[in-house]
Amino acid sequence: MLNPADQAFCSVLAQAVPGLSMTAPEPRYLEEPRGLLAGLAGVVVKPVTTTQVAGVMRACHAARVGVVPYGGGTGLVGAQVQTEGAAPVILSLEKMAAVRAVDDHVLVIEAGATLAETQAAAAAQGRLFPLTLASQGTARIGGCLATNAGGVNVLRYGNARELCLGVEAVLADGTVMAGLKRLRKDNTGYDIKDLLIGAEGTLGVITAASLRLFPQPASQGTAMFVVPSPAAALDLLALAEARMPGCISAFELIARQGLEFLDEVGPPVHQPFATRPDWMILLEIGLPEGIDAEEALAGLFEAAGTLVEDGVIAQSGAQRVQMWALREALPEANKRIGSISSHDISVPLPDLPRFIAQASAAVQAAGDFRINCFGHVGDGNLHYNVFPAQGRARAEYANARGRVKDMVHEIVDGFGGSVSAEHGIGRLKVDDLERFADPGKLAAMRAIKAALDPLGIMNPGAVLR
Ligand SMILES: Cc1cc2nc3c(=O)[nH]c(=O)nc-3n(C[C@H](O)[C@H](O)[C@H](O)COP(=O)(O)OP(=O)(O)OC[C@H]3O[C@@H](n4cnc5c(N)ncnc54)[C@H](O)[C@@H]3O)c2cc1C
Repeated sequence: MLNPADQAFCSVLAQAVPGLSMTAPEPRYLEEPRGLLAGLAGVVVKPVTTTQVAGVMRACHAARVGVVPYGGGTGLVGAQVQTEGAAPVILSLEKMAAVRAVDDHVLVIEAGATLAETQAAAAAQGRLFPLTLASQGTARIGGCLATNAGGVNVLRYGNARELCLGVEAVLADGTVMAGLKRLRKDNTGYDIKDLLIGAEGTLGVITAASLRLFPQPASQGTAMFVVPSPAAALDLLALAEARMPGCISAFELIARQGLEFLDEVGPPVHQPFATRPDWMILLEIGLPEGIDAEEALAGLFEAAGTLVEDGVIAQSGAQRVQMWALREALPEANKRIGSISSHDISVPLPDLPRFIAQASAAVQAAGDFRINCFGHVGDGNLHYNVFPAQGRARAEYANARGRVKDMVHEIVDGFGGSVSAEHGIGRLKVDDLERFADPGKLAAMRAIKAALDPLGIMNPGAVLR
């Protein structure tokens, strides 16, 4: 049931945007995966065309009503749930999911297509759209661009920004920016596309994008290698890159604690090593015609010497799926255990082992915690998450969260790292941005926000206060 003010504005919207689909907010629009924040909403609108999006924005701008652009709701920093202030309009792109054009190099697709649908559209053309996230069945391509999502293939193909050639977007006042260029080179002034990517819906609504497509690798190989330390993992990465330049698609670090969480709470997955190793790597390669990926991985195992203590190489598609299922189950296991504080951090690659050692020593000295440190080690990006000791509840650590988070983020900052490597700022990290961002950068961000959204209606409270 909408409140009277919302109902009155719905009438305005209905008049301004003929045929607009509007619903009272179902719970799924007000929740987020971490379960930390509860959102507000007056109404959910589901436009089917860019013209309708522009109409919604013009009406909201005229009435100074806040708008939260909405993709799949899988964001991990609360950017998609407005928690304070007047209830906003949730502008869901879910009904805009059409493929507008596709050729061997570029896919032009609407923002509401899920990432899995986007990958499938590329595959139907015999091509690859390489962005890969565990949330890809639900996350939508507009959301992936708005958060500049990363995932497991950044090492080889780059993050969402690097995969995008152009965007069509609607700005706060309803202006349509028709930027669906397919150009690799375009130096015509400020790159507004690159401002919208990663802006988390605070500068405009992305309605469609032109995306780069790649050749499908002729031969794909996946392996899990036990490594003695994070430093050995980096040496193994260097060796793999030297032997197969440009062919390493994923290089994921997994810690024993994550494997033990899977044993403790599930989800049930096949564990390749009977004794859970301290550290292991999930490695994926994609090779051109004429080179067998399994042989290449076996060759790497041989050449690695003491860098690898044990290993399994997938012998079939089913085994490959099994290996990825383990990696993708880690966030769910973490959720079931319940973290005290989660950190999506990056540091310069050579500093990664020192960061892990320093942060772990500091956290262990501060109390009785468990640490699950895993992630996209090839990108210098770790999910460094801190949990209660076995048998203890998260509630017992209510006062520890801020302390732990500050401690980890200060160490990250000391290495010149980032306190949000791939998830964004949203609402959960606004304080961290203010604390750790360069003041010059923050001032420029505020100026851009004021110029493009002077009334502050785009996703109020996200990224900037
Ligand atoms: C299990 C799991 C695994 C994940 N793994 C990864 C990972 O490996 N790497 C990674 O980077 N992230 C990961 N994520 C986080 C999340 O999936 C990504 O941030 C994803 O890009 C969000 O897309 P979405 O469509 O769900 O966006 P939403 O959650 O709906 O929105 C996120 C932000 O984008 C804005 N937005 C959404 N659509 C638009 C639009 N069309 N125009 C403008 N703004 C818009 C919203 O306002 C909000 O600020 C994971 C999440 C889960 C639950």
